[in-house]
Amino acid sequence: MRLARLLHGFFAGECCAKVKCSMLTPAVSEDLTQLVRLEASDSACGSQASSDSRRLFGLDAEALAARMVAAGEPAWRGRQLAEALYRQRIAELSEITTLPKSLRQRLTAEGWQVGRPAIAQVFQSVDGTERYLVECPGGDGLTVETVWMPEGDDGETGDGSNAESPQSLGAPGPSHLGTWDSKESNRESDPEEVRGVGKTGQRATLCISSQVGCAVNCQFCLTAKLGFQRNLTAGEIAGQVIAVFSRHAVEVGRDRVNLVFMGMGEPFLNYDNFMAAVRLLVREVGLSPQRMTVSTSGIVPGIERIAHEPPEFRPKLAISLNAPNDQIRSEIMPINRKWPIQSVIDAVRQIKLRPRERITFEYVLLDSVTSRPEHAAEVARLLRRTGLPAKVNLIAWNPGPGINYSTPQPEAVEAFRKVLIDAGIPAYLRKPRGRDIYAACGQLKRTVEG
Ligand code: SAH
Ligand code: SF4
Repeated sequence: MRLARLLHGFFAGECCAKVKCSMLTPAVSEDLTQLVRLEASDSACGSQASSDSRRLFGLDAEALAARMVAAGEPAWRGRQLAEALYRQRIAELSEITTLPKSLRQRLTAEGWQVGRPAIAQVFQSVDGTERYLVECPGGDGLTVETVWMPEGDDGETGDGSNAESPQSLGAPGPSHLGTWDSKESNRESDPEEVRGVGKTGQRATLCISSQVGCAVNCQFCLTAKLGFQRNLTAGEIAGQVIAVFSRHAVEVGRDRVNLVFMGMGEPFLNYDNFMAAVRLLVREVGLSPQRMTVSTSGIVPGIERIAHEPPEFRPKLAISLNAPNDQIRSEIMPINRKWPIQSVIDAVRQIKLRPRERITFEYVLLDSVTSRPEHAAEVARLLRRTGLPAKVNLIAWNPGPGINYSTPQPEAVEAFRKVLIDAGIPAYLRKPRGRDIYAACGQLKRTVEG
């Protein structure tokens, strides 16, 4: 079995499927400058997906219009296509009945296809969490992980998004006819049952991957073990959302679904494709960026770039702090040697926050290493000094095989949280979701290996 398939699954229902690899040397990932260059080279919207074959998914309405004009059709056909791909979620060209049959046939004959990522496998938890292996249509057979958590995992609590009206979820759109592609319908026991869920308005959090693997080498994270394999295209990132929305018949503008870019990979080392996906989701799908949170290990150039994105496209930001000071952070997150805590904070300050918006600081509790009460007090001092509207999301470390860290006891987690609360820092504990389906980190490997 391919290494990629073995390791892809290592991210959690808590949106972090990670494990420390004690064998890995904590070298700062070799040449991050090169990594940043690398992400710039495949920056066009959907570039990887559309260069090797004629895929429509991932292109925005403008690009679709240009393709239609090139095919001798009026430009407004692009808008029809965008509507079909992103609002109606149609996965087969032959089913886009707003286009004349003759045009559908001609496009198909010319090699065009929708080319949307498809759910290849589903793991369902008793708590309603679903973990998906999503097949990327890039021809390399890679899958990524996406997790659907009904009711969320409390990760969004206190970050400003709860204060919004349901209308701010997204632009009102037509109700959506979820379209099942053959893969999904073949592999589901009862698709109709799933489609019937949540008819009175669903709340959920959807956790999305941005890369296959990751180059950042955090010592507690299993994705790091996979190394960096490749960037996902904008279509592959947005496609995870559309495939899952289709499965759950999500109605944009009615259902409250939060998107978190907290799956596999470092979004800010794939900045252009990540932001192209966000623009697609905002413009073409109708989602609000205020219901999206991007998590970064602290890639300062990425933070500076997102600070300058127009507010209508800027998701909220989560920083994986994970340690109370530079010394410990550099040990567990070698990236800290390149961009220490203060440089991350300085970059974060450049963001013009919306009313009620807070910066989320994620904090993985590694027993004794980062979980002591004195660490909590240091985190509280650090965050108070920044003067930023902040909240902390505590995540008890998810263990994995061959990993030398351990998970703190619930009492220690609560004590840590209390220190923060007493210091006036809002702090929440991420609910573990989907443990029985091995959605917690390190567990999927066992599932896949049987
Ligand atoms: N690369 C980005 C986003 C993906 S990781 C980042 O690092 O922020 C999403 C979150 O999962 C991060 O906050 C990360 O610190 C956390 N995480 C990683 N491994 C974990 C583990 N084994 N247990 C719990 N959380 C983990
Ligand atoms: Fe894991 Fe995120 Fe670190 Fe990458 S940056 S190794 S995904 S925690």
